[in-house]
Amino acid sequence: MIGKILLANLPTKISKLERLSKEWGVNLYIKRDDQTGSEISGNKIRKLEYLLKIALDNNCDTLITTGGIQSNHCRATAAAATLLGLKCELLLRVGDLPKVEGNYFLDKLFGAGINFCNADEYRDSRDEIMRVIGERLEKESGRRCFIIPEGASNGVGSLGYYEAMNEILTQEREYGVRFESIVVAVGSGGTYSGLCTANKEMNLGKRVIGFAVASDSEYFVNKIHILNNEAADIAGFKSEFSRNDIEIIDKYIGEGYAISRPEELRFIADIASKEALILDPVYTGKAMYGLYNEIKEGNVPQGSNLLFIHTGGIFGLFPKQDQFIF
Ligand SMILES: *Cc1c(COP(=O)(O)O)cnc(C)c1O
Repeated sequence: MIGKILLANLPTKISKLERLSKEWGVNLYIKRDDQTGSEISGNKIRKLEYLLKIALDNNCDTLITTGGIQSNHCRATAAAATLLGLKCELLLRVGDLPKVEGNYFLDKLFGAGINFCNADEYRDSRDEIMRVIGERLEKESGRRCFIIPEGASNGVGSLGYYEAMNEILTQEREYGVRFESIVVAVGSGGTYSGLCTANKEMNLGKRVIGFAVASDSEYFVNKIHILNNEAADIAGFKSEFSRNDIEIIDKYIGEGYAISRPEELRFIADIASKEALILDPVYTGKAMYGLYNEIKEGNVPQGSNLLFIHTGGIFGLFPKQDQFIF
């Protein structure tokens, strides 16, 4: 295994959601990766711990990365950069002139440089634009730049969630429970990839269920398959990874990435009122809403032990508060 730096508060706690378990007829546990930290909170920091080790080993002084205007990944990267004494440049996808709120507000507080692109530029050439930003900084100010892909999702990033699976196995032994299924939201695929490679490589026989929040399952199965093979090359995994290892459900994307339907927001409010648990509107709210519906439809067996990974995103809830109806 390649090395990492230590930034996240690990291990993250697992607790049982007692009222939802009773209501839904399953044993629903939650792993609090939303509590990996405060400024750096969420799932991205587990991937960044591996990527930033490489940046530091190469004496880089500037991190460059990209995401949506309310990207949790960009905010975590900006915070981590500041923690490590590095500079950070973000390429953020925007429509209109964005309000300074939520994660974007925090990006500015952490002192990140902000660059904007539109949705077409983001889709077609975000990596190229980041490369150009890096070249300019290297030429004009002698910086040494390290480019991190969307969501910190590459083969190295996957190792963060390969390791998280080891953490889960230790906690299973501690608590005397075996999780039959692990459930997670899928945005850029790295989190799922790490869990999925660990499941296969360690022959755990779990069901790893990913709920897509943006593109369809065909896109994610292909992307995650590539990530799995990249991770295997880096870490020397012995397994043959196939597309059949990957289960992505794309029925709950709703109106599209970061767009909320009233029923999704009602669901988030319902969960908060029952469990004092805050889900975010972009990822975990959609994934938990998907899980709830899959249980209701009988696609997840009654009585089974489920572990939902809370991947974070709380700061993205506040820009949506006006859309909630009470
Ligand atoms: C990025 C993110 C995800 C998705 O993780 P990927 O590794 O990008 O698939 C899920 N939840 C939250 C809160 C996120 O910020």
